[in-house]
Amino acid sequence: MSRRHLQLLTRLVGTAFVLSAAVRPLVSFDAGEPLLLAVEQGVLPARWTAETPDCAHASPFLVHEYNSTFFILRQSGCTNFEKPFLYLIVGSKEALLIDTGAPGASVSPVIEELLRRGSQRREASPLPLLVLHSHGHSDHTAGDAQFSRMSGVRVVAGTPDAVATFFRIKDWPREIAQYDLGDRVVDIVPIPGHQQGSIALYDRRSGILLTGDTLYPGRLYVRDSRAFIDSVDRLVEFTATRDVVHVLGAHIENTRTPYLDYPEGTTFQPDEHSLELGRAHLLELQDALRHMSDHLQRRSFRDFTIWPVVQ
Ligand SMILES: [Zn+2]
Ligand SMILES: [Zn+2]
Repeated sequence: MSRRHLQLLTRLVGTAFVLSAAVRPLVSFDAGEPLLLAVEQGVLPARWTAETPDCAHASPFLVHEYNSTFFILRQSGCTNFEKPFLYLIVGSKEALLIDTGAPGASVSPVIEELLRRGSQRREASPLPLLVLHSHGHSDHTAGDAQFSRMSGVRVVAGTPDAVATFFRIKDWPREIAQYDLGDRVVDIVPIPGHQQGSIALYDRRSGILLTGDTLYPGRLYVRDSRAFIDSVDRLVEFTATRDVVHVLGAHIENTRTPYLDYPEGTTFQPDEHSLELGRAHLLELQDALRHMSDHLQRRSFRDFTIWPVVQ
């Protein structure tokens, strides 16, 4: 080896040493230590449907415990092709139900049972319940009457007026409201566009962002383009400074095959897309809307389709 080669090798080894010293804190990181210390973790199931259609034995709602205070319900396609997702979030003073499902199934006994089990676990009386809506369409509000009749339950209609009044929002849709369920603050972000009363809900404890029919793996029906574009911009801004663990919407219509959705009205979707999206999907949606400007067109992306609806 020539002296020149030796110098070169020394320089390279030296560089490698400096590099390894620089990354040492990361290398020595305890592999078992969770990276996201700020939020409560949970588990999502591998699938939300049975492998074979069996309506004779299907329960009207599949109930999944994401963790002990966050429940996800999926209405069975045997009861309604919309198969919406509902969310129950439990604080120390109050529980919050987002949406009451589509026609064809009785949801209140399922929620009552979950609250009863929670009260047994805490050895206390069942928590009062607040019912909100991702928006006011009938596939998310069909069970409202069941809850309105119950004591200890408040139902806020899925309209801008009702939501703004309840949360004392003076500047709809630009103002973001906070609500404390007891040791659990949720943020309510008005996002009209799919429907006037659309809201997103961010649960600070789990880091989960609920987006209703505004963003989910399926057909994003846009009824008011300008409002929708502005809402997505505000949601991007809102999430820029927050940990977003999952973006969970109210339906699944896409298959696992990129760009491909199930036809409208499909009741059994054995190869459906996962429910969970991430903030990257929100950025992809914003980017697509910006490119289309005010003239939205129907266009498929890998995990969702933008679908303007002519009023
Ligand atoms: Zn809708
Ligand atoms: Zn819907």
